[in-house]
Amino acid sequence: MTDTGYRHAVAQLLLVEDDAAIRAALIRALTERGHAVTSMAGAMAALQHVLESPPDLILLDLGLPDLGGYEALRMMRAVSSIPVVVITARDDESEIIRVLDAGADDYVIKPFGAGQIDARIRAVLRRSGQNEVKSGSPLEVGGLRLDPEGHEATLDGARLDLSRREFDLLHYLALHAGQVVTRRDLLTHVWRMPYGGADKTVDVHVSWLRRKLGETAQQPRYLHTVRGVGIKLSAP
Ligand code: CA
Repeated sequence: MTDTGYRHAVAQLLLVEDDAAIRAALIRALTERGHAVTSMAGAMAALQHVLESPPDLILLDLGLPDLGGYEALRMMRAVSSIPVVVITARDDESEIIRVLDAGADDYVIKPFGAGQIDARIRAVLRRSGQNEVKSGSPLEVGGLRLDPEGHEATLDGARLDLSRREFDLLHYLALHAGQVVTRRDLLTHVWRMPYGGADKTVDVHVSWLRRKLGETAQQPRYLHTVRGVGIKLSAP
């Protein structure tokens, strides 16, 4: 995707599908394409999950055992505006019209290839204005300079010796300089992991990064922890 000047869209996906074989195949295919996937086998569990930990996009099978897909979609729409791509086995024009009218952003008809569903996910996220992270051009925040092409970072002209993950973490924070970035966002976009109690991973890397930037949590210069929310990178 580098030829377009954009990184591959990486998203926190919620897959709602009761068929274990399809679920496993989709999780594998979408994870390979860089997405972080959480899955649920039923609509009620999915609704609960959406309220507690909203994903970037929902893949919703219409044939669920506990609640009709159409009703599930209506309920999703009642609580959130998260993009929904519907998965349907029914090649039924009136059903497709019904779910699009109920607020689905797109649909795929089973059977479909992983490439197609990934392309639809990217298209929907592009339209909803999410997850398009510009790469390539160097970034500067105060005395900090990041060159994503060369994977090089300098602080006040001195080269920082960062691991790949530390660089990616710093780069993501620099892209959102001045904004608080949540741990969940970092897990999705830097680690490409579904959220779920892995906060420590982020905290540990932030503390390593802090040490390399020559600062501490008690006396921050660039990296500010906002308690209960996340991390903010800003110029001192
Ligand atoms: Ca099903």
